[in-house]
Amino acid sequence: MLQVAGGSRVAQFLFGVGQVFLLVADKLRVCDAPGCGRFFVAVRPQQKRCSARCTNRVNAAKFREKHGDDGVAERRSKSYARRRARQLGRKSVKVSRRPGVGGRKKKAPGNT
Ligand SMILES: [Zn+2]
Repeated sequence: MLQVAGGSRVAQFLFGVGQVFLLVADKLRVCDAPGCGRFFVAVRPQQKRCSARCTNRVNAAKFREKHGDDGVAERRSKSYARRRARQLGRKSVKVSRRPGVGGRKKKAPGNT
């Protein structure tokens, strides 16, 4: 780092901040997750989101868009059935489904 001859401590501090900013300027990005918009320093070249949380949120929304809400409930049910079968040492178990449990509830038609 360059030393600033003379100048106040505040000026030196701001100069340091400026130097740090120049180091990360090309990696400073805005998170593209809906409803976030935070600034972050990209660690990877392709990084578009500030955190794993934002990435998961975007990926979950994409999955729901593709498979619908039933896709989530179906996967959870199958995963539970596999886990139960493993616990009981059986090849498969029959799992009954309760309506409205697992995944998000569908919006009633006509409601906004
Ligand atoms: Zn974010």
